[in-house]
Amino acid sequence: MNTLKVHINLPKFALPAYRAFFEEFAWNKGIDLVFAEAENALIIGANPKADFEISKGFLNQLDHLNFHWKDVFGKESPLVKTEKGKPDLVSTALYMLFSGQEYGRFTADAYGRFPYAKSYQAHFDLVEVNRVQEIFDALADHEKVKPFVKVRERENAFFLSHDNDQFHQSWKEDGFWALKKGEIGGLLKILSKHVQGKPLWRNMVEIMDLEHQFGRKSTFFWLVENKNTPEGFTNADYEFSSKAVTKLYQEIKERGWRNGLHKSLLPKSFSEEMSKFPNPPTTNRNHFLSIQVPETFLEMEAAGIRLDSSLGFAESHGFRNNYGLPYRVFDFKGNRSLRLIEAPLHIMDASQRTYQKRSPEQAEKCLVEFLDKNPKNLNCGLLWHNKFFSDYKFRGWKEVYKSLLKKGEHWGHFDPDAFLSSRLSE
Ligand SMILES: [Zn+2]
Repeated sequence: MNTLKVHINLPKFALPAYRAFFEEFAWNKGIDLVFAEAENALIIGANPKADFEISKGFLNQLDHLNFHWKDVFGKESPLVKTEKGKPDLVSTALYMLFSGQEYGRFTADAYGRFPYAKSYQAHFDLVEVNRVQEIFDALADHEKVKPFVKVRERENAFFLSHDNDQFHQSWKEDGFWALKKGEIGGLLKILSKHVQGKPLWRNMVEIMDLEHQFGRKSTFFWLVENKNTPEGFTNADYEFSSKAVTKLYQEIKERGWRNGLHKSLLPKSFSEEMSKFPNPPTTNRNHFLSIQVPETFLEMEAAGIRLDSSLGFAESHGFRNNYGLPYRVFDFKGNRSLRLIEAPLHIMDASQRTYQKRSPEQAEKCLVEFLDKNPKNLNCGLLWHNKFFSDYKFRGWKEVYKSLLKKGEHWGHFDPDAFLSSRLSE
């Protein structure tokens, strides 16, 4: 009998969410788990006799999706509590893992995103904490669970990726930078590359060569739309179907790197954008991380995207759902698990440079500290835009990327396709 029996003694509406939660917990800890009647089972219920007591107040909030974090946690501590003030760790982690706060009321930013400043992570200074993992660890220590745990902790891994936003701005942005710095040799190189139709930011081959030195491979996310939105937000500045890009796409594939969709900001469907690929992509990241939870996830699922990596705060490194590993998305509105894996994004160059206004040296220090705080159980989603490898306007940022790879040189490698076939094979 190596199977943990779990009995969820909760109202019917709550069963899908708590089942999805325990399935994620079981995967995390390598537990064979089955949902069963109460006999000899671990009991999850809204009463003090249960092994894990669930807060009735939280169940009520779940039922009505009254999910603003101030209603769920209060302002004192990021913890769901029972009516008697006992911590309800299960509901706390369930709410965090499945992005409960993004179902609450909030005003989105100009890109339609959930703003970091409005998050409980900002309020409780929790963005660097893998809190869901800490709770999984605590649950695994329960005497009824412990004998079934096969995985104590997981080694860190990298999920490296690049959003290919712009190629042709190099001559303007790098060129202006070189002119200002008086680097005339650099300026001439930038301009002559532009004139030859080989813009410096179309540098995927150099990125692959660099990663190869570290024994790493990555995913390139492509924008297939190059018109601005009516509000003036930019999409690609290149033509996805052009000869040069098609050649690059093939080379990436042939070398064993991955290509995915970088869903544009235009009001076009996933299917429409995916149809422009030579082979339909299964992975996605939204441009500007512009997703709405759960609507964008539902659109991805319907179109056949199987793995997304948009769940990160644009404004900060860290954990948008306080979890370090890929997980199966749960939709609180539709009350079901989606056929979609989210591999959260934890580190992005632009968070550091654009939003936090850090120099490359400051960013490196900040990010190394973050990684030091998370030496286990982190499948580190790391996004470095192609232009951040430039030697001019973005000088110094390539070195930050390299030092992060060096920092994690012994870590594992996350391959989206391999993970999908193990996790969504049914
Ligand atoms: Zn982008």
